[in-house]
This record gives sequence, structure tokens and C-alpha cells, in this order.
Amino acid sequence: MKAIQYKHSIRPYTTFNIAAHSAEFVSVQSIAELKEALENIPPQKIRLLGGGSNMLWTQDFDGRTIHLNLKGITTLETTEKDVLVDVQAGENWHDFVLWTLKNDLGGVENLALIPGNVGTAPIQNIGAYGVELKDVMENCTLLHRNSLKEEILSTADCHLGYRDSIFKNKLKDQVVITSVRFRLFKAPHSLHTSYGALAQELATRHQTIQEVAQAVIRIRQRKLPDPKEIGNCGSFFKNPIVSQSVFMALQKKYPNLPSYPADQAVKIPAAWLIDQLGFKGIRRGDAGVHPNQALVLVNYANASGAEIWALAQEIQEAVQTTFGIALEAEVTRY
Ligand SMILES: Cc1cc2nc3c(=O)[nH]c(=O)nc-3n(C[C@H](O)[C@H](O)[C@H](O)COP(=O)(O)OP(=O)(O)OC[C@H]3O[C@@H](n4cnc5c(N)ncnc54)[C@H](O)[C@@H]3O)c2cc1C
Repeated sequence: MKAIQYKHSIRPYTTFNIAAHSAEFVSVQSIAELKEALENIPPQKIRLLGGGSNMLWTQDFDGRTIHLNLKGITTLETTEKDVLVDVQAGENWHDFVLWTLKNDLGGVENLALIPGNVGTAPIQNIGAYGVELKDVMENCTLLHRNSLKEEILSTADCHLGYRDSIFKNKLKDQVVITSVRFRLFKAPHSLHTSYGALAQELATRHQTIQEVAQAVIRIRQRKLPDPKEIGNCGSFFKNPIVSQSVFMALQKKYPNLPSYPADQAVKIPAAWLIDQLGFKGIRRGDAGVHPNQALVLVNYANASGAEIWALAQEIQEAVQTTFGIALEAEVTRY
């Protein structure tokens, strides 16, 4: 059995930089080690940890945290047009994007610099600048936590939606994603550059995937706080999706209310709602809302997870009272 560490601090593993401990902690590098770490432990006593960029610990955990450290990128299939690659769950997402750029393979360039690991990417179908994981993912391999049986699930069967998937619903806390397969494209690449901020950033018409990634990196570095400098998990809340009729009633009251089409419904930027209520830049001790990004809750230094969560609830209540909209947290709270 891989060495277990006891009463282990998770602070260095989470981008919120929150002080909390796990009673047991084990970092696994192979499927065999993962199976051993899962065996004979009740599911409620297991917590999975990837890059720690989408979780908020509000208390110590009286169980076993399994840090997924499975590594490796393997090319499985090459055709004239594309390549099928298998990426292990513990690979850092941005390092994988850099690998694709080095190999001139298109598909994930718009998703450059998203923190976290490859194995976690399907859980909320990571997305940015007009591209989502579901656009390039072929399937993923799972290990069922109870039976320790492996299964390959196609992208269609993962039900990937806006920051949503089967892993947040039917399979919540049931499986470990151990690897993800991607279909990546050889040159000439078709680029996705129409998304507002990205289109503005790219000056000329003809671009390479490397230039698109560089533009995305520049925008993200300008816009988003770096977790190495200030603790955060990116967007704390999902953008709410409301029906046409709810939107029209709100628009009557708030004519400047921004919106985006979302199938038959309407997506409203949560940042706008939070900003309207004056939360942008507020600070409660070391917990706060970023001065430039109303959607990003931050830990200035030593905020506890409970303090960050209290601020999140205060925002949720205010948005519910004023706009009648329930803001849903994108970040997993423990
Ligand atoms: C500055 C910043 C910017 C961000 N920008 C974006 C963005 O543009 N778009 C976007 O979509 N997201 C964004 N995020 C959110 C985050 O990067 C993603 O949600 C990412 O996929 C989380 O990966 P992780 O490995 O860090 O997850 P973790 O925080 O380690 O885990 C998240 C959840 O998944 C579970 N889990 C972890 N690994 C596995 C596994 N292998 N199998 C099953 N369950 C697992 C954990 O138990 C936990 O419940 C941003 C975050 C930050 C800090």
C-alpha cells in the first residue's frame, strides 16, 4: 500500500489556499494504487483531489483524500486528418494544451491556462472562449468506486452541458475518471475565434493554433487573478439560465440586463447581477469579491473556507431577494 500521510494539510493542493486538514492523504500514481486506496473505505470517507482549483473546504475532513497523480499522454491512432490521444487523469490541463501546441494538434487551444487536471475536465465540461471540452473529447475511462470495475463512457453518455455532466448528477461520487481521450486535428486547423474578447485580441485574419492560445493566455492573465498570488477558484457561481418569460419580466425592470441565448432559454451573466448589488471589491476580513471580477471570490490571505462560504451565501441571498434568481455555486463545497 502506498504510504498514507495522517492529518495532512491540503492548503498547498487547493487554489483557494485554505487551511484545512484531511485525516488521511494518499497520492496515487497507478490504477493499482488507486484501487488499493479505494478498497474497504466507505464512499463517504473518500474525497478525490485533482488540481484543487474547483473546491472549497469549509472544515477538516475525517476521511481519506486521494490525490490523483496518474501521468502519461499516449497517441493511440493517427489518420490523415486527426489523432486520438489518451491522457491520464493527473496530467495538468494547461501542460496538456502546451503538448498539443508543440505537436501542432488543434482542438484545445481556446482552453489554454485553465487550471486543474485533465481527469477533472469532464466533470464540469470545462469551457472558455467559445470552446467546451465536449467539442474535442472522444470518451473517458472510469473506475467505479464500489465495484472497482473499469468502464469507458462515450462523450454522448457523459451528458456534457454548461458546467454540467453525468458526474455531477447520476454518477456523482460514484466514479473516478482515470483518463480522457481526445480527437485532435492536424493542420490545416479550423479555428474558433469569433468569441468577442478573443476576436478583438487577434489582430490579423490568418492565425495559427499557437497564436490563438497565446491570445487566450494574454486575455486570461489580464482578466483573472492568479491563484499563486491571491487564492481563488475562478468563477464561483454558474451563470443562471432562465426561461424567456422570466427574462422578459426582468428586462422590463432592468433594461440594461445583459443576456446570451441558451437553447430555448436565456443565460444571464451572474457577474452583472452581483455587480449591481455592490458586491464587487467588498471585503469581509480576508474573504472578498475581486475588485475587477464580480464572479471571483478571493482569499486575501487567511480566510477560512467557512468565511468564504458565508460571503457566497450572502451574495446568493441578495441576488435571490432582488432578482428572484437562485445562483448556483460552480465550486464544490465540502
Ligand atoms: C483562476 C481560475 C480560472 C478558471 N477558469 C475556468 C474556465 O475558464 N473554465 C472552466 O470551465 N473552469 C475554470 N476554472 C475552474 C477549474 O479550473 C475547473 O473546474 C477544473 O476542471 C477543476 O479541475 P481540478 O483538477 O482542479 O479539480 P478539483 O478542484 O481537484 O476537483 C473538483 C471536483 O472534482 C472531483 N474530482 C477531481 N478529480 C476527479 C477525478 N479524476 N474523477 C472524479 N472526480 C474527480 C473532486 O473531488 C471535486 O469534487 C478556473 C479556476 C481558476 C482557479
